[in-house]
Amino acid sequence: MNIHEHQAKEILKEFGAPVSNGVVIFSIDEIKKKITQLNSKEYVLKAQIHAGGRGKAGGVKLIKKVEDLEQEAKKMMGKTLVTHQTGPEGKEVKRLYIEEASEISKEFYLSCLIDRETSKIAFITSTEGGMDIEKVASETPNKIQTHKVELKDEGPLKKDEIEKIISIFQLNDEQKKVASNIVNSLYKIIIKKDASLIEINPLIITKSNKLICLDAKMNFDDNAIFRRPEILKLRDLNEEDPAEIEASKHELAYIKLNGSIGCMVNGAGLAMATMDIIKLYGKEPANFLDVGGGATKEKVSAAFKLILSDKNVKGILINIFGGIMRCDVLAQGVLDAAKEINLSVPLVVRLAGTNFKEGKEILDKSNLKILSASDLNDAAKKIVEAIK
Ligand code: GDP
Ligand code: MG
Repeated sequence: MNIHEHQAKEILKEFGAPVSNGVVIFSIDEIKKKITQLNSKEYVLKAQIHAGGRGKAGGVKLIKKVEDLEQEAKKMMGKTLVTHQTGPEGKEVKRLYIEEASEISKEFYLSCLIDRETSKIAFITSTEGGMDIEKVASETPNKIQTHKVELKDEGPLKKDEIEKIISIFQLNDEQKKVASNIVNSLYKIIIKKDASLIEINPLIITKSNKLICLDAKMNFDDNAIFRRPEILKLRDLNEEDPAEIEASKHELAYIKLNGSIGCMVNGAGLAMATMDIIKLYGKEPANFLDVGGGATKEKVSAAFKLILSDKNVKGILINIFGGIMRCDVLAQGVLDAAKEINLSVPLVVRLAGTNFKEGKEILDKSNLKILSASDLNDAAKKIVEAIK
């Protein structure tokens, strides 16, 4: 789960990391009242969307005169912002963050994430922070350092470990103290809030030599959210794909993709294999969908409707290996959904395992136009053929 910059900065503050003072607004008429909480000559107006790259897309604006704030906010609020991370459809700006502006002397990069390969916490640093970090990563990767620390307890980290992480910044003693605090804060947020990624880009040194976390992105482990109700409260459904929200209501593992063949599969591994074989036959999957082991017919029906809600879907491939999941339950779910929706795209079904005969019978007796397949290879071939 992702959260907004202003929420991430609240958490950073709670854990003792320095951030600028700011206020969040959801409508323009909140500005007058809320701005009294801030004290600065210049402000930064920041579009709050779950995507980076806002600076280059007009979603971060330095305001030199407070009188201009309202007018600039009107331009930004409600606008659809397209950044390199939003996809071409962009994201609508529904809230703005107004911050006391900082005078920047240097922009660094600092992030902290869980490294699954080594089961360690990785800190990534660079002196080339700011809006071109992707370019730095691809053209001069030697300017980016990674340090991994053992996941032991709640911290703080050992002094020599921190020293290795921050040495690249070449800080004075006073700044080193602050930077050590920031590193420890990030480590603690990973542990105590189940964050999986925290990115501070840029971490700045101001003209008066202070360190500030000027931007913050945080991502949390969905599987641990149940024990972090305070984090779940920060969820913003506006930022999520409606189909994925619907899927999470039914506890379906669904991820929307850009292809034309909808897939309904049980088991994540089989779902991946199904996507692979669709690609092998020259088409792209429209989604990843694992209906799970013990899916009910209601769940199957919800999943089927979900696939069909995607307008790019030109055909559906159902691939079920019945283990705990029974093929007749699957067939009934598909039938129930098809009754409610006018199924106008080709449907290929491959059933194997528990009760596959019963499942096939249910589908055969229905008046649905179904192409049945003998195995996965045959199924992929048939669906690709059918949508040509
Ligand atoms: P992103 O583009 O979505 O990553 O948004 P950021 O919050 O990182 O802002 C983009 C850029 O705006 C930063 O790299 C800074 O150069 C600039 N910026 C943000 N806040 C301030 C500020 O307080 N003062 C100044 N001078 N520039 C800022
Ligand atoms: Mg940034």
